[in-house]
Amino acid sequence: MSAYRARAVVDLAAITANIKLIQSTCSVPVMAVVKADAYGHGLIPVAKAAISAGATWLGVALPEEALALRKAGITAPILAWLASPGAPLSELIAHDIDIAIPSIAIFSEVLAAANALKKKARIHIEVDTGMSRGGFRDEWSTFLERSDLTEVEVIGIFSHFARADEADSDFNLQQKMRFAEMVKELGACGISPQIQHLANSAAALQDQAARMGMVRIGIAMYGLSPDYEHMGSSKSLNLQPAMCLEARLHLVKEVEAGSSVGYGSSAQTTRKTKLGVVPLGYADGIPRMAKNAGIFVDGERAPLIGRVSMDQFVVDLGPDATVKGGEWVCVFGSGDSGEYTADDWAAAVSSINYEIVTRIGPRVPRIYK
Ligand SMILES: *Cc1c(COP(=O)(O)O)cnc(C)c1O
Repeated sequence: MSAYRARAVVDLAAITANIKLIQSTCSVPVMAVVKADAYGHGLIPVAKAAISAGATWLGVALPEEALALRKAGITAPILAWLASPGAPLSELIAHDIDIAIPSIAIFSEVLAAANALKKKARIHIEVDTGMSRGGFRDEWSTFLERSDLTEVEVIGIFSHFARADEADSDFNLQQKMRFAEMVKELGACGISPQIQHLANSAAALQDQAARMGMVRIGIAMYGLSPDYEHMGSSKSLNLQPAMCLEARLHLVKEVEAGSSVGYGSSAQTTRKTKLGVVPLGYADGIPRMAKNAGIFVDGERAPLIGRVSMDQFVVDLGPDATVKGGEWVCVFGSGDSGEYTADDWAAAVSSINYEIVTRIGPRVPRIYK
């Protein structure tokens, strides 16, 4: 896709630096989480950069994502944790992709697929330690009674934190205790997986006891804070945001005070000013409800005015602006020069930076530097 109107510039050196920082902080193997097109940064280039930087595992949600990595020639171990009923399990097993097992139903499907292939499946048992999302809970004791558990290769056991960003929450302690219990219960059945893993970025960064045999790093590897409110900014965590979303102004025009801007006339200009039309909209992942965000151009922030449309939004450049149509502006970036950040855009819609970067759509080409 041509990058004449907009581009997401992804700094792979930032990803490398973030992984190295996490590695030196955690001193355990790093699984680079590259689900959702590497949080919008581009699956294959990011996966390759992560492995070069020292990550030894890749983590994805979907089977398709894992298969795309293998198709690109990536041979590192990969865990896919959202193989739902009906997933292409034979293909996963044939390609040596580790499969998360959250239920007896999925286990039975994996076993059947593996037996048909005459190959042992590599699995990670997922346990629910309190989040009530994926993983075993009600079926746990029944699962432990299965004699065919030895017919698969149990590589790992893992769980996921609900509140890792809140370092002081007792809930984290409860989840760790429950995890230890479940590991022990599995051990009592004669199964002791090589890798126990529990930590996402937030836990990896601030809870030494959660790091165990491997950390699963998503957001921090992209240079974003797991939780701006509880953990501070990227900068305060020494992380380098990897994505910079840029657009070329479609046009600049002067309008009188009191001009209605955008659908629903939700905004009016309060002075004679220059408006810039930015050729990105909610179809590209710019949140329609955003209010306190905008662009950065010529060393200044120009705030969004009126509602975001499907393909465009309007900014107030101010009466003295000299920028012209065709010039590149920054929608969000590292913030180092004063530009808006993914955290600013998230705050503008009461969301989180994860949602801002993952929703940048396929119409926006990713450019690597
Ligand atoms: C997405 C995900 C991660 C990564 O979480 P971050 O907060 O981005 O580090 C880790 N583990 C699981 C199971 C996930 O779904």
